[in-house]
Amino acid sequence: MATWTRRQVLAQMGLAAAAVHALDPHELCCTMAAHAQTADKDLFELKKIGDGVYGAIAHQRYKTNCNGAVILTDDGVIVVDTHSKPSASRALYSQIQELTKKPVIKVINTHFHFDHTQGNESYAATNSKVEIIATEQTKVNLTTPGSGVGGVSFVETQIKAMPAEIDKLKADIQKESDPAKKKNLESSLQQAESYLQELKSMKVTLPTRTVTTTTTLKENGREIQLHVLGRAHTNGDLFIYLPKEKVVATGDALIDWMPFMNDGYPEDWINTLTALEKLDFTSIVPGHGEVLPKSHVAFFRGYFVDLIAAVKKASADKATLAEMQTKIGDQLASRYEAAMSKYAVGRYRDLRIPWRRQPRS
Ligand SMILES: [Zn+2]
Ligand SMILES: [Zn+2]
Repeated sequence: MATWTRRQVLAQMGLAAAAVHALDPHELCCTMAAHAQTADKDLFELKKIGDGVYGAIAHQRYKTNCNGAVILTDDGVIVVDTHSKPSASRALYSQIQELTKKPVIKVINTHFHFDHTQGNESYAATNSKVEIIATEQTKVNLTTPGSGVGGVSFVETQIKAMPAEIDKLKADIQKESDPAKKKNLESSLQQAESYLQELKSMKVTLPTRTVTTTTTLKENGREIQLHVLGRAHTNGDLFIYLPKEKVVATGDALIDWMPFMNDGYPEDWINTLTALEKLDFTSIVPGHGEVLPKSHVAFFRGYFVDLIAAVKKASADKATLAEMQTKIGDQLASRYEAAMSKYAVGRYRDLRIPWRRQPRS
């Protein structure tokens, strides 16, 4: 089968998000019962994966926080990804302080999306010498207007969008008669209002060091490899690999939800995951969801393989976009729906595509 350009694939998929009810994990909201009440100190659960290596698994909030990875070295702490807001990264920092009083010396951003980078500023505030590392392309995306759901200009986009979200929540509260649901909506409203306030004072803090190819950090007591494996969830994804501990942190190139493809490259994604799979690891800290075994790489990649094949077949059969939207999700459901619907959010049948934009070529 001929290789399609990214534009062809996305156009045929309509994009895939629409065809198969893929969701945008970056705009999850509104119905988070118990977790909506979570105090800031409990935003993350620190799960020990190896000696001095933790997955910071994010609890659900009105504005999604990504998972982090926390790596202790003899000189200080290295944190992977910084969530959707400085108050969230400060909350994780206070949990880290219970493990060690050493400073955070390096922050690594897996990609440019807002829910992985908007907390960078809080680490710069705790340590003016902190090094913030990402791929060169991620830095370009953070500083180029219209790159997608993250970066300097996207803060303004969100500030403009939030008042309407807040009005909708207020209207929903008025309409809701169930006391428990009303309480959740009120919690969401409170979170939405404080998120808007944080956005207004946000200082987007850019990488201070960039990489373009796979690079090894020789930290005191720890080897950390930064792998540039190709395009996947974005055109600047970075994979953080600890060869001794056999752990990898993937950002959203691999998650335990449905993949978010709006800024992605579905065909490249397959090859990038195949390259990732060649590394010797046993545990994955994904961008969202629980710590996963290596076998999830093959499962997650299988979804792209099957999705692209199904869209190409439907396209060859002259199916309309509307037909694809109803049929392909059903067609792949037996293989993927249960495993991609484990959480209250990010499910196979969810459909949220805010801030949608035209695919780039
Ligand atoms: Zn994310
Ligand atoms: Zn992302």
